[in-house]
Amino acid sequence: MQMIDPALPAFLSHGVKLMLIDGQSVPALSGNTFKSFNPATGKVLAEVTQGGAEDVDRAVAAARRAFEGPWSKFTPFDRQQLMLRLADLVDRHYDELAMLDTLDLGAPIARTVLGRRRAVALLRYYAGLATSTHGETIENSVLAESLSYTLKEPVGVVGAINPWNGPIGMAVWKLCPVLATGCTMVMKPAEQAPLSPLRLAELCLEAGVPPGVVNVVTGLGDAGAALAEHPGVDKVAFTGSTEVGRKIVRASAGNLKRLSMELGGKSPNIVFADADLDAAVPGAAMAVFANSGQICSAGTRLYVQRGIYEEFVQRVADYAKTLRVGDPLDPQTQLGPVVSAEQIERITSYMDLGLQEGARALTGGARLTEGPLRDGYFVPPTVFVDVGEDMRIAREEIFGPVVAAMPFDTVEEAISRANNSEYGLGSGVWTRDLNTAHRIAKGLRTGTVWVNCYQVLDPAIPFGGYKMSGFGRESGNEHVQEYLQTKAVVLKLD
Ligand code: NAP
Ligand code: MG
Repeated sequence: MQMIDPALPAFLSHGVKLMLIDGQSVPALSGNTFKSFNPATGKVLAEVTQGGAEDVDRAVAAARRAFEGPWSKFTPFDRQQLMLRLADLVDRHYDELAMLDTLDLGAPIARTVLGRRRAVALLRYYAGLATSTHGETIENSVLAESLSYTLKEPVGVVGAINPWNGPIGMAVWKLCPVLATGCTMVMKPAEQAPLSPLRLAELCLEAGVPPGVVNVVTGLGDAGAALAEHPGVDKVAFTGSTEVGRKIVRASAGNLKRLSMELGGKSPNIVFADADLDAAVPGAAMAVFANSGQICSAGTRLYVQRGIYEEFVQRVADYAKTLRVGDPLDPQTQLGPVVSAEQIERITSYMDLGLQEGARALTGGARLTEGPLRDGYFVPPTVFVDVGEDMRIAREEIFGPVVAAMPFDTVEEAISRANNSEYGLGSGVWTRDLNTAHRIAKGLRTGTVWVNCYQVLDPAIPFGGYKMSGFGRESGNEHVQEYLQTKAVVLKLD
């Protein structure tokens, strides 16, 4: 197969990609750069500024100046108008943003273009929250002749640290509560996919966001670490691995930062024999294979009721074989490569481990090493059966297109096995029985339970984790509350 030659976005043709600090495109003070690769070809896509601790310092200083200066004069209505303008700009430029993610991350263009609706919806929804968020009046029960109320005030400078698996969507999600509440932000995108977040920051300026409100420091983990421990940062909003999440919690102790942690998962997806199997088969497959398995809430532990187990897992494997793996720029492609050489190493070592531990791959089981895709990081969708509950492929986050299928018998067993995980991010249940659906939904210790669907995200519906999948919620009113302080005013009247 001939890889499609893309019309490179103009954004990529201006040499080294600079950071955005205080409204200016700047190189790192050290002069360092790093390379971002196209995972479909393994070739260098762009050279990107490698910001360090000293760049984080100036970005935080710019964010503080903006927070205390011009940005503090914006009324909620002003911020709402600005966010609506930004939504229009993101809409207008979405093809370019989607192309940047397809090139940088390897996600198929057919998938990245679908992100338009969510990005624009997020901005418009949070624009609404900018003017509808408020404190309350509280009847004071101990002080007669008084007035007591709360004020909601922005927490200040937010450090946003992002993973690579959904670059533009994640950047917009982090930006929305910042703009809605009047905070300012220094964002550190993942080193594997920094391009679309940089382009988004440019669009913010074009929309009229004052310099310093949105800063992007591209770089490696040390730039994230500098942000996490910076005394000038009031809150860190982190999405990424549980391992790095722990480091950030420790680093944040110095000035007791507010934190929100969206971490890893090993999410259970439970299929009952009475389910609509024609919907559940593709549902269970795409719960894990979408984005080549690189989704935090991917349904990677597939529990199937014993009576339909053999038939169901075979149908999932047959469905997986129909998925077109290939050039992410080809509109027909459903699964692109995984993001990096490091990631494919990790996935293949888990696949080898699964086979050694006695699991059997109904389909997939090894990376593609021959044919036109051999130079990219391509892994076919993989369905493991004969999986023991204690095997590492059933317990640890692989972050690739690999599902571990296991049979179960009763509702109680499904709940207790699904909960037998250190994680608790997403979960799914497929059944036509309302009683079963509600019992499972109540019994699972996960931040989201999807019933007869999977991976449906809405700007108004809170998303986040139980247990080692983190704390705090993104989306909805709860999200903006995490960017606000509550001040109580107690006033004695004469
Ligand atoms: P990661 O390795 O944890 O990295 C996330 C971000 O943290 C990157 O920007 C990274 O920089 C930065 N970082 C690395 N070391 C740091 C440190 N010591 N202090 C502060 N920041 C540091 O995660 P990833 O590999 O990018 O993404 C995959 C993981 O994210 C998976 O575990 C997945 O489940 C999780 N995830 C969770 C959600 C959710 O909503 N719950 C969503 C998506 C992904 P570098 O890129 O330079 O290393
Ligand atoms: Mg990483």
